[in-house]
Amino acid sequence: MNRIAGRAGITMLIAVVLLIGFAFFLGEYFMQADEWAVFPGSPHVYNGSNIGCGVTTDRDGVLLLDLSGDRTYSADALLRKATVHWVGDRRGSVSAPALSHYAAEFAGYNVLSGLYSYGGTGGTAKLTLSAKVQAAAQEAMKKYRGTVAVYNYKTGELLCAVTTPNYDPDNPPQIDESNPGEYEGLYVNRFTQSLYIPGSIFKIVTLAAALEKLPDAEQMSFRCEGSYTIGGDAITCESVHGKQSLKEAFCNSCNCAFAQLVEMLGKENLQRYVEQFGVIEQVRFDGITTAAGKFEGGTASNYHAAWSGIGQYTDQINPCGFLRFVGAVAAGGKGVDPYLVDSITVDGIKTYDAKTVKGDRILSESTAQILGSYMRNNVQTKYGDKNFPGLHVCAKTGTGEVGGGKKPNAMLAGFVEDEQYPYAFVVAVEDGGYGAKVCIPIISRVLAACKESV
Ligand SMILES: [Zn+2]
Repeated sequence: MNRIAGRAGITMLIAVVLLIGFAFFLGEYFMQADEWAVFPGSPHVYNGSNIGCGVTTDRDGVLLLDLSGDRTYSADALLRKATVHWVGDRRGSVSAPALSHYAAEFAGYNVLSGLYSYGGTGGTAKLTLSAKVQAAAQEAMKKYRGTVAVYNYKTGELLCAVTTPNYDPDNPPQIDESNPGEYEGLYVNRFTQSLYIPGSIFKIVTLAAALEKLPDAEQMSFRCEGSYTIGGDAITCESVHGKQSLKEAFCNSCNCAFAQLVEMLGKENLQRYVEQFGVIEQVRFDGITTAAGKFEGGTASNYHAAWSGIGQYTDQINPCGFLRFVGAVAAGGKGVDPYLVDSITVDGIKTYDAKTVKGDRILSESTAQILGSYMRNNVQTKYGDKNFPGLHVCAKTGTGEVGGGKKPNAMLAGFVEDEQYPYAFVVAVEDGGYGAKVCIPIISRVLAACKESV
């Protein structure tokens, strides 16, 4: 009797273990089946290291890449170059992380029926990019290394993000000892992965902190004699700006005035605001994580802290991260995250539909409004409204001194103040020289294309 009871007990135990195992498998299946189905070794989904099924188009349905047969790119060489850093190449030298991120949606994977489009052609991914704007940006940037990007600060749609140098995936360059440096950083998506010394575009950040922390900042006046001494070392300006209001000091991009602002703010407070504004934070969208920026002014000497508030010292920004910050200023202090993939459709069924991801409030509405009016003043009195016909542009240029005898980086950030064209933008040109001279013509051309394409 005891033996039978013992055996029954063991049988029960085995049955329970089996049931637990089965439940665990079912749970795992429903949670992770889409990942298993599209594991990177799957020939149905991947082609080399890049996704190998489906069609990718721009926001208007213009073909960028067709994987239903061979890997067929756009017939337009300019567009192939302009988008290679988003759709990837044949060799996998340039990956397409945003497309790979949606491999399951692309393949039309369904948890109950298996691969919905198994053996078929895969889905169609519509990107937020505009082919027309990408082509205009490619033309404007072709002489330079760097990046230009525009996004809708109300929805998060990336209308344009070009990174140069780039190349035609149908005609890849031969890189060898004969052309050292020519293709340096060719495979890097500078918009998401590069870091730049911001120079004076960082004054938007320091000004925002001052407006938040110092109640009478707008009424202050600043004297510039061409240099300002902190702890025995001189902060210098390129000219003597004389007596200025805060608005004038921002427009003159006066280093002496901004050094005084950092002193009044306190370096620890500046550090706190830089973090609160998310300027150096990584941005995550469509499976992409951008490079993190750097700001160390809070723990530096007073002299170095002043330079950090001017966008020098050890400051580094990622173009995408800075774009999101400027977008938040444009949107009244509360921004949205950028995104690249608008939707994916398989056999008429939407397997993915992007949603706007709203961020937290990073600065007050009144600070955002004042910043906007100061940036607007920069364009009206300095950069020239004539460069932006029919658009109310607000902007700040920068010249990031990189040292080592190299020409500085030319930088620009800003936005369009218009219900119809709610676009924020960032431009970075390596060894470009003066920000205003190089970046204004680039963004002028790109914004004109944006205006035409909507
Ligand atoms: Zn000055």
